[in-house]
Amino acid sequence: MTTPRILPSIDQLRQRPGICSLETEYGASAVLSALRAVADALRQELAGPAPSVENREQAAGVIERRASQRLEHAFAPSLIPVINATGVIVHTNLGRAPLAAAAARRVAEVGAGYANLEYDLTGGQRGSRSVHAEQLLTRVTGAPAAAVVNNNAAAVLLTLAALASGREAIVSRGELVEIGGGFRIPDVMRQSGADVREIGTTNKTRTADYAAAISDRTAIILRVHPSNFRIEGFTERPGLDELVALGQRFEIPVVEDLGSGNLLTAQAEADIGEPAVSASVAAGVSVCCFSGDKLLGGPQAGIIVGDQDLVSRIRSHPLMRALRVDKMTYAALEATLLEYARGRAETTIPVARMLYATTETLGQRAHALADRLAGHALFTSDVVEGLSTVGGGGAPGSAIATRLARLTPKARSARWLESRLRELRPPVIARIVDDCVLLDLRTVLPEQDEQLIESLQTLT
Ligand SMILES: *Cc1c(COP(=O)(O)O)cnc(C)c1O
Repeated sequence: MTTPRILPSIDQLRQRPGICSLETEYGASAVLSALRAVADALRQELAGPAPSVENREQAAGVIERRASQRLEHAFAPSLIPVINATGVIVHTNLGRAPLAAAAARRVAEVGAGYANLEYDLTGGQRGSRSVHAEQLLTRVTGAPAAAVVNNNAAAVLLTLAALASGREAIVSRGELVEIGGGFRIPDVMRQSGADVREIGTTNKTRTADYAAAISDRTAIILRVHPSNFRIEGFTERPGLDELVALGQRFEIPVVEDLGSGNLLTAQAEADIGEPAVSASVAAGVSVCCFSGDKLLGGPQAGIIVGDQDLVSRIRSHPLMRALRVDKMTYAALEATLLEYARGRAETTIPVARMLYATTETLGQRAHALADRLAGHALFTSDVVEGLSTVGGGGAPGSAIATRLARLTPKARSARWLESRLRELRPPVIARIVDDCVLLDLRTVLPEQDEQLIESLQTLT
């Protein structure tokens, strides 16, 4: 047993400048355990038939290199930025909405220090966090009051708990939907303590069905936007104004889960079929709930807007404490809403910019990419027509014409090439169609084009 003697001791290793700089970067204790693990593994190797090192200096070099790799791997963050070349704008698996530059700046500014999160700067005393974003939300939606929680699932749960617990919530069978990620409207309703009063059928529910179900146990009428599917054919659903009129006649609030928070123009509603928040407010809906990070293009949040007294009841419910948001969410949300208030969201909010990017612009960017990749070792590149989607469980069936950069592998499969794209840093997420890899630049931020091209050029 002579070989293990060429292993340096831990103390000897720690004299090496390379190990010292690892200690500075990762801390002494992590380096110590990495050195021990790597030295142990090398000891096993040296006892085997084909020792990989011949002297102590070589062994020290090998240990240093392997420890460095091990630490780099162990300390790498799990959550990293990726390039979304799928053409799915609100891609739930890829973090939904990218923040506007102004919103990202606000998060950094507010998050890095103290803030008046719950402090009244005028009175010099404790304040309420729920005042943040409220003024902007009332401005951009037209509703008198607003509250913000962790996500829209929480907004719906809290609203039902505060307004309908122990009483009945009337809902059409055509709206008892599953949104994805296990969010099922009937389950959430039951969790809130509300009794679900189902009416109508999957394809047809009339105003008379709602009217017939109203009793002294009725707390609210719930309307749910069936975000992720369309029922076509023999269908009927009362207009929002009919439902509001019915609610007003019996003094029962109509609550609407809009899913996506479409604060864009009515044109966007026509383009993609996602109802505008302001239209629901204007129609007289008492409380609307929607997501902050779908079409709205802000941070993950659930937004509740509506009548003052109902929103107050929602805010003072005990669950509010469990579902509230932090200063970084308010910072990002306020900055995002400010872009809407200024009327320039369509040019500054990434989700809106992507929605409105033209095939001409996308074609130019795709051609520039394909040209720069001409002569690549692994694939040929050209530009083809295709379709992007809104995603995020919204605007089902809405397809937006786009131009795609198509990478056709020369020797290997498209699946292999696509997995190589995911190994890049940042990883590039693409689609495969007909054994080609398709890149949709609609969802690639224009400032990432150069990085994407250079990164693809490095593939060999
Ligand atoms: C997406 C969606 C939800 C859930 O919103 P999250 O922000 O993901 O929690 C609830 N209801 C509808 C109709 C939706 O489309």
